[in-house]
Amino acid sequence: MTGFDTILVADWSAGKRSPKRPSKDAIWVCIARDGTAEAPVYHRNRIDAEAWIADLIRAEQAAGRRLLATFDFPFGYPRGLAGAVTGSDDPFTLWDWLAERIMDTETGDNNRFEVAEALNARFDGPGPFWGKTHRDRWPGVPYRKEGIAFDQVAERRRCDHVAQAASSCFQLAFPPTVGSQVLMGLPMLSRLRRMGGVAVWPFEARDAPVVLAEIWPGLIEPAVQEVVQAARGTDVIRDRVQVALLAQALSRLPGETLTAWLGDTPPEAREEAWILGAGHADILAGYARPVLRNDCFALPPGVHWTPVDAALRDLRARLSPVTGIETRPVSEAACRILAAPVHARRAHPPLPNTAVDGYGFAGGRPEGPHRLTLMTEVAAAGAALDTAVPEGHAIRILTGAALPRGVDTVVLQEDVTIADGAIRFAGPIKPGANTRKAGEDVVADQALADAGRRLTPADLGLLTATGVAEVDVRRPLRVAILSTGDELVEAGGRAAPGQIFDANRPMLMAQVAALGHVPVDIGRVPDDRAALRAALDQAAQADVILTSGGASAGDEDHVSALLQETGSMALWRVAIKPGRPLALGLWRGTPVFGLPGNPVAALVCTLVFAAPALSVLAGGHWITPQGYNLPAAFEKRKKSGRREFLRARVRDGEVEAFASDGSGRISGRSWADGLIELPDEALHIRRGDPVRFIPWAGFGGG
Ligand code: AMP
Ligand code: MG
Repeated sequence: MTGFDTILVADWSAGKRSPKRPSKDAIWVCIARDGTAEAPVYHRNRIDAEAWIADLIRAEQAAGRRLLATFDFPFGYPRGLAGAVTGSDDPFTLWDWLAERIMDTETGDNNRFEVAEALNARFDGPGPFWGKTHRDRWPGVPYRKEGIAFDQVAERRRCDHVAQAASSCFQLAFPPTVGSQVLMGLPMLSRLRRMGGVAVWPFEARDAPVVLAEIWPGLIEPAVQEVVQAARGTDVIRDRVQVALLAQALSRLPGETLTAWLGDTPPEAREEAWILGAGHADILAGYARPVLRNDCFALPPGVHWTPVDAALRDLRARLSPVTGIETRPVSEAACRILAAPVHARRAHPPLPNTAVDGYGFAGGRPEGPHRLTLMTEVAAAGAALDTAVPEGHAIRILTGAALPRGVDTVVLQEDVTIADGAIRFAGPIKPGANTRKAGEDVVADQALADAGRRLTPADLGLLTATGVAEVDVRRPLRVAILSTGDELVEAGGRAAPGQIFDANRPMLMAQVAALGHVPVDIGRVPDDRAALRAALDQAAQADVILTSGGASAGDEDHVSALLQETGSMALWRVAIKPGRPLALGLWRGTPVFGLPGNPVAALVCTLVFAAPALSVLAGGHWITPQGYNLPAAFEKRKKSGRREFLRARVRDGEVEAFASDGSGRISGRSWADGLIELPDEALHIRRGDPVRFIPWAGFGGG
C-alpha cells in the first residue's frame, strides 16, 4: 500500500453558528502535504464544512492523490450500544440511524438532545447519554452523570483507555466534551462514505483512495501547549494551532509507521472504532513540531552570486527553533539550550559569611592591640548559630560559616594569640575584613542566563548555588547525515579503482556532535533517485538533514533535483571559496542542507552556513564566528567578488596558510587549527599584514 499524499484534520463542533471572525470552538480544517500544513480553514457551520470536505475529496480523487481525512470525534460507541439501538452491531447501521434523525441548520440549531432522548429510551434507568445546555429541557437526558450505572454499556471504549482520552462519547455537555460532536459528526461521515472510493478505518479496507479515520488531538497536547505558550500575548487560537500541528505530524510520519498503525487494531475496534495513533502519543508528538516556511531558504532575487553576508542575513531572518521543550533537573542539563530565561531563586551567598578560618567580632579599632573575650561556641559552615556575640567578645568561626549576630569582621587565626580565655592581635583591621556580604555575587531574582544559552558546566554550578533545581530546555536537535555518490565505499570496505571512501560522513557526524547536536547516521546512497528519496524519507524523522554530494545542477545532482520537486528548494550560489552551489530546501517539512561533496567545501559550508542555522533550529542563538587578527606568514593575491576561507594555523604569533587551496585536499583540514577569512574585495596580502583568523572553536564547536 502506498502512503497518503494529503492529510486532512477536522476539528468538529456541535455548537451554533460561529462568529464571522475566526474564533475558537468553531470548525477548523487543515490540510498538509509533504509534511507542511497549509493555512487552517475556518468554517462557521457544519453544513459549509461538510461541503468543503466533500469538494476536497472529489478534487483529490480527480488529481489521483490519496487522502487520509481525520476527524477529532469517536467513530463508534462502546461495545453493545449499536446493538441496543439498531439491533445490529454494525457501526454503519448506527451511523445511518443517526443520519436519518439528526437535523442540522445553517444557524447551527439542531435536535441532538431530542435524539439523545430517543437513544436513552432504549436503555433501562437514566443515561447512558447525559449533560445538556438547559437544566430543565429534554427530561430523557440527565443533567449530571450521578446515578448512571453504565451497566448495559461501558462508559468508555477500549481505545479511550489506551489513549487516556479525557471525555466519554456519552457526555453531551461541559468541558471536556465530545459526545455532541459524535452525534453531529457521524451523520456527516455517513454521507461522505457513500461518495465512492471512500473507506472508513478501521471498519473497512484501508487501501481505498480516500480513508476516513478518527484522531484525538490530545495525543499531541504537549506540542500544542508549547506553541500556544510561545505565542502568548498574540491572538493565537488553540484549535487552529492544534489542527495545523496534527495535520503536519500525520503528514511527516514515515509511510511504514502510518501503515503499521492502520493495520494494528484489536477486535473491539470493529465495533467501537479506534483512535489513529492511540498508544503512540510519544511518536506522533515527536513529529508535531513547528515547521519552517516553504520559502525559508530563498535568496535575494536578481543576484547571480549572492554575497556570503546577504545569504547569512536571510538565513538568520527566516529560521526559528524546531525542537520541543522539556523540563530537566539542572544536573542533567549540561550542554542543553535554555528555552526560557533563568533567574536566581536565592542570593549567593545567601547569608553574610566568613571567607577564612579565624575569629569573628564586631568591627574593630583600626590601630593598636585588641583583646577580646573568647566565647565557647564555634560557628561552623552548615549550621546557623543562634548565639549573639556581644561587644568586646569574639567567636571561633570556620570558612563558609554564616556570621553570627553581632559579627561583621573576622581576624585570621594565624594573626591571633590565645590566652586566659581571650584572643589578642594587633591592628589595624578593617571593619568587614575577611567576610563576604549576602548577595555580593548574585542577588535573589537576578537574571542568570538567557533563553538560547547553551548551559556550560559553570552554569550548572551557578544555577544550583542560587537555588535553581530544574530548567526548561530544548530537546537536543537531531541532525540526519547522509552521503551521496556512486563512487563512495564504506570505510573499511574494498575500494575498486575509481572508488573512494566515504570520508564526509564520519567528518560531518563528528562536526555536528562538536556543535552540540545529535548526529543520526543515515548512511550512503548511490546516485539513484528512488534510493535517495527513500533515504530522505527516513532522514526526515530527524529535525534537520545534512547531505553531501549531488547538490549542484548537473545530471547526477540528485539531491538538488529531488528538492526541486518539492517546490521549496533554493539553489544557493553563494560567492564563497571553497564551496560550490548548496541545495537548501525542505523534505517532508524537515530542512535540508545539501552540501557539496568535496570534503573541504563540505566542511567550510557546514561551519559558515549550517552551524549558525543549526544553532537557531536547536533553539540557541545565531552564531557569529569569533576570530582575531594576526600577521600573515604568507603572501597572497585574491580577486574581488568572493569571500575566501583558507585553512590556517598559528605559529609563533603569525598565521600560516595551507600550501594548496585545492578544495579536494582533505589533509589540509587536519593540518589546520582554523580558517583565515578573507573579505569579498580584491586584496594583496603581504607578509606581516593583519588577516582574520577564526579558530575551529570560533564557529561554535567545542
Ligand atoms: P559532488 O558534489 O557529488 O559533485 O562531488 C564532488 C566531489 O566530492 C567528487 O570528487 C566526489 O567524489 C567527492 N565526494 C563526494 N562525496 C564524498 C564523500 N562522502 N567523501 C569523500 N569525497 C566525496
Ligand atoms: Mg556526486
